[in-house]
Amino acid sequence: MTGLTLIPSSGAALPAEPFRARHLIGGAWRDSVDGAVSERRSPAHGVPVSIAAKGGQPDVEAAIAAARATFDAGTWSRASGKDRAALLLGVADLIEREIDRVALIETLESGKPITQAKGEIAGAADLWRYAAALARTMHGDSHNTLGPDMLGLVLKEPIGVAGIICPWNFPFLIVSQKLPFALAAGCTAVVKPSELTPSSTVILGELLQEAGLPAGVVNIVLGYGDPVGAALSTHTDVDMVSFTGSTAVGKRIVAAASGTLKKVSLELGGKNPQVVFPDADLDEAADAITFGVHFNAGECCNSGSRVIVHDDVAEALVARVVALSQKVPFGDPLDPRTQVGAIISPEHLAKIDGYVRDAQAAGAGVALGGAALSPGGLSGQFYQPTIVTDVTPAMPIATEEVFGPVLSVLTFRDTDEAIALANSASYGLSAGVWSRDVSTCLDFARRVQAGTVWTNTWMDGFSELPFGGVKQSGQGRELGRYGLEEYLEVKTVQMRIGATRARWVA
Ligand code: NAD
Repeated sequence: MTGLTLIPSSGAALPAEPFRARHLIGGAWRDSVDGAVSERRSPAHGVPVSIAAKGGQPDVEAAIAAARATFDAGTWSRASGKDRAALLLGVADLIEREIDRVALIETLESGKPITQAKGEIAGAADLWRYAAALARTMHGDSHNTLGPDMLGLVLKEPIGVAGIICPWNFPFLIVSQKLPFALAAGCTAVVKPSELTPSSTVILGELLQEAGLPAGVVNIVLGYGDPVGAALSTHTDVDMVSFTGSTAVGKRIVAAASGTLKKVSLELGGKNPQVVFPDADLDEAADAITFGVHFNAGECCNSGSRVIVHDDVAEALVARVVALSQKVPFGDPLDPRTQVGAIISPEHLAKIDGYVRDAQAAGAGVALGGAALSPGGLSGQFYQPTIVTDVTPAMPIATEEVFGPVLSVLTFRDTDEAIALANSASYGLSAGVWSRDVSTCLDFARRVQAGTVWTNTWMDGFSELPFGGVKQSGQGRELGRYGLEEYLEVKTVQMRIGATRARWVA
């Protein structure tokens, strides 16, 4: 008896044929030059769901050449903000039209619950709309106080060709945190989705074509980090790389990009703490903590995977989180009731389990879960919603990213200790605080090392608000006005408009 709420196979019909995903290069859909493909199986159902072209050096070279030539031709890079915005708005409408289709393939490739996939696609459509607003309102600066003969202009220009490298956990949302902003700025792009979840990005490519985006503005190359991502990071014709993924690969990209000094923006991992003070509303906190750790099966950069709770309320909070976690429907991601689906790969499942086993061996307790389990009729990989208690700061599970539905519970006695624990990881993506006292919340918000702080809530997100990390969680920001700035270069123009220059040579 697990005490969990299991959702067995829904018996929903799986697609008769795997989705065929190909590269989009210079406006044409292409197989790899060498014909290589890779197959993706549903993490929940174990059957093949897509067959994707597996890009090699010639494919990525061709895509970069198309993006470069298109940028230099100026068709998109010099288009008006009004025209760019009209296109982005059209894409948003098409995404909404295709929500069911995109969500289904995301669920089949990633194992995430279908209801959450639909929410993700709807959120992505909003990002395309928001970026359209930025495209029309973007402007530089003027300096009219440099003296009677001078005028200074600060122009915002597109940085050029953007290489966009995405992970598998929110494939459609994350490409939409980057691409519409790059397009609003006037960039052209080469997009590389994760080899595990290529298909929703391919559907996006189809929608971009339908919306009328000129050929070569967005190119998509499918395949692995090596060679596709690596080529984007080193190539002289790529002006910047925008990467979301693991901290380890982010560091490799920075090293690879140093040869050309191209700009690199990074959205990396997190080990996000939620600090619960004794005056917190424990029912509210418990629900948000349960959501924060089990949403997307914990395969979430923003996973609230680390609770730091005051000793006096630790037992009461853990009891609530265990009870809620038992109620969370766990199983077939195609069943609309499901809230925790499958784990992306067998290797990743083993990694999650390893963290839990090591913590147990080091003296931690397991209040719920702690093992793999496939709900009835499902042949993929699943990990039970898990709560690990009595975690000490020295255990790897306290500071490393588990990326699974596994909550680590640590305790504290005073505020300084709570802040020190919260800041003890090498990451700094997001953090949360639970207290009825606004001063406690504000003090925490000012002292915690994180790019985003939630007070009495968790993982709300808005297209308007910048998102990114400090420390080893990344550099640069996405979303909001800052998300556009990443793709812009600043050019200073100094104009003599009155009398001629004072001569230097007498
Ligand atoms: P990953 O780093 O393994 O892969 C990400 C992408 O990089 C994939 O497309 C992969 O093919 C590519 N890649 C691999 N090696 C490369 C190389 N040498 N050069 C260039 N590209 C290369 O990450 P993942 O497993 O797909 O995703 C999970 C990670 O992403 C987690 O650490 C998670 O925290 C992080 N993430 C961060 C955010 C954020 O916004 N901060 C959001 C989602 C995920």
